[in-house]
Amino acid sequence: MRFRRFRPLRSVAARLRKRHSTQGLILAYHRIVDAGADPWGLAVSPRHFAEHLDFLHRRHLVLPMTELVRRIGDRTLPQGAVALTFDDGYADNLINAKPLLERYGIPATVFVASGYVGAKAPFWWDRLQRVLLEPGTLPRKLAIAVNGLWYERDLGEDAEYDEGMFARHRTWRVGEPPPTARHEVYRSLWQLLRPLPSPRRCQILDQIGDWSGLRNGHHPNDRTVSQHEVAALARGGLIEIGAHTVTHPLLSALPEPSQEREIADSRTALEDIVGQPVASFAYPYGDHSPATASIVARIGFTAAVTTEGRTVGEQSPRLHLPRMLVDDLNGDRFCERLVERFAA
Ligand SMILES: [Zn+2]
Repeated sequence: MRFRRFRPLRSVAARLRKRHSTQGLILAYHRIVDAGADPWGLAVSPRHFAEHLDFLHRRHLVLPMTELVRRIGDRTLPQGAVALTFDDGYADNLINAKPLLERYGIPATVFVASGYVGAKAPFWWDRLQRVLLEPGTLPRKLAIAVNGLWYERDLGEDAEYDEGMFARHRTWRVGEPPPTARHEVYRSLWQLLRPLPSPRRCQILDQIGDWSGLRNGHHPNDRTVSQHEVAALARGGLIEIGAHTVTHPLLSALPEPSQEREIADSRTALEDIVGQPVASFAYPYGDHSPATASIVARIGFTAAVTTEGRTVGEQSPRLHLPRMLVDDLNGDRFCERLVERFAA
């Protein structure tokens, strides 16, 4: 006999309500690539992604996200409907993901940070990761000014990081205790750099690059989409382009006029590239201030997504839609994760 835990009444009521209304799920992917270190769990291998699509193709109705949102509004959402999304605008979305989506006829939305389209440098978090979490030798001492504070660390013997250590710690995630000084530095710098304005953050990353001696060593896997590639993603109608701001800022750290510029300018830039309306928006890091949703509504988006991992249903506000982040699971584990999520 299984012991059943007591559940608070409110939770029971929420579960009963949920059981009697149809539920869908919006999935959030980022990169479809065989990654090295992946501290945020953003990469799914092409092999695993094909297994996800095979399962979804057989067992779920997959709708374009804007249609799923429309059907929530119309109260015609089919039980178990799924929508796929990709955040940021990595070139691998076109190179690796699109051919697989086409093979299965599965639609998706790609949210692109327009300021990184055609950029020479990768996303700032990838630059930081390549310096600190790849095999190689770094100077032992790092000392830089970050946001008016002096940031100093001694990497000690972790300045040397060989292939064996890299392989041992490759699956480390930021939520786990840092196994080396390099991981601690990665995590603390990430936290310090995230709220900074993009130009300031870029300067600091240039300094870190100079310190490491790797400043221009961008990895081809980290490449962001070019303008031509954004247009190629949208061609054929299976993939819809959504906006994801210009510089991928922490929106809640910005005053409202700057938030509005980031959101509106990304929409205009992407509409110019694809030649059709851009109707949906993804909040970078899932973050927003109380004013952000009204800015998104004023600019004219019909749907906006966060990173809160719940299912969607008739109660879901269309400018605050939860999504389930997908990490590098094989097909069986992916299936289990979906079953758990629909049952939660
Ligand atoms: Zn993002």
